[in-house]
Amino acid sequence: MRKKIVAGNWKMNKNLEEGHQLTSEVVNMVKDEVTSDVQVVLCTPFVHLNSISKLLAGSKNVMLGAQNCSEHASGAYTGETSVSMLKSVGTQFVIIGHSERREYFGETDALFAKKVDAVLAAGMTPIYCCGEKLEVREANDHIKLVTAQVSEALFHLSADALQKVVIAYEPVWAIGTGKTASSAQAQEMHAEIRAHLAGKYGKNVAEEITIQYGGSVKPDNAVEIFAQPDVDGGLIGGASLKSRDFVDIVKAMK
Ligand code: PGA
Repeated sequence: MRKKIVAGNWKMNKNLEEGHQLTSEVVNMVKDEVTSDVQVVLCTPFVHLNSISKLLAGSKNVMLGAQNCSEHASGAYTGETSVSMLKSVGTQFVIIGHSERREYFGETDALFAKKVDAVLAAGMTPIYCCGEKLEVREANDHIKLVTAQVSEALFHLSADALQKVVIAYEPVWAIGTGKTASSAQAQEMHAEIRAHLAGKYGKNVAEEITIQYGGSVKPDNAVEIFAQPDVDGGLIGGASLKSRDFVDIVKAMK
């Protein structure tokens, strides 16, 4: 049975007080309303991780995530945050490869491969994001591009290591735009990613990997997207900033 994971990516939103409030609301609602085996992750800004970790201490199914990390272990890298720092404040998941890191910070698949290694070596779970821009889909190159993103950042891993990775398929044209991939488009790509993993690691390994969908997931489209057989959860941006919407999305994952 694959793990079902719904993660909120707060991006660069919420000051500390707002972040605490959102966390407390989510923890309370999830406790009352979510009885299933869905794991919930809050990927907060770095500066909030330490204190939000304490708010999550009593929660069984809400976990802590970061949105990035350094590939370096320590040293003279002004402004960077290492995996051991993240681990030391209770972080369990780290988003790697988000399209905003690719687009605005020039990060590449080769760099993501190093970051994935660092996260795994620290005993945390990478959420590796992949996804195509609109022009790539229009040129019908989306499957080729996304499977290449997966190979380049992940295929150096052993099967054991790969099984500790979560993949998030996030078509760039659907992020923050209000345009969602149709459930058929999401299912098609998730099945292609899983087949690509099976080609390298075998079907049994591929069947174990959690593949999330991300890109304008909202309470009113989550049920249909999450009902697809190869969609194992979601990476939620805008809608994770409101506790009611986020928890409704969590509830849609059955
Ligand atoms: P969105 O963002 O839900 O606001 O489209 C998703 C993401 O970027 O992870």
